[in-house]
Amino acid sequence: MPESEPSIFTRIIAREIPADIVFENETLIAFRDINPQAAVHLLVVPKTGAYPSVVELAAAEPQLLAEIVAVARDLATEHSNGEFRLVFNTGATAGQTVLHAHAHVLSGALPEGTLAQ
Ligand code: 5GP
Repeated sequence: MPESEPSIFTRIIAREIPADIVFENETLIAFRDINPQAAVHLLVVPKTGAYPSVVELAAAEPQLLAEIVAVARDLATEHSNGEFRLVFNTGATAGQTVLHAHAHVLSGALPEGTLAQ
């Protein structure tokens, strides 16, 4: 994808495509994953599209990463029992499909046959 092309998440932030948004502040947005892998599956996404993955984000703005963790905790408390998995797929072979840094917040029952590694 050319760098100038906005990611699907940038288009959600801009309200160009719909999403079930559960949280938003100046720097972050969170919405339900369109293809949930757990009873609660939310994506916490920095509004900036400057970082293709969590690696670049953590190096440049560690406090933004800490904010993502705090929002994940709050959302897991609000939408589930406060316990959650926080997943950052990093790289295509690790399952990353959207090159706009984001955290998966997974909470509640896991799908049949799935175990957290
Ligand atoms: P990744 O595979 O990059 O770690 O995570 C991308 C996630 O974004 C996937 O879990 C996928 O289901 C979700 N996703 C992709 N397109 C959309 C969309 O248009 N809306 C929402 N809500 N989620 C999306």
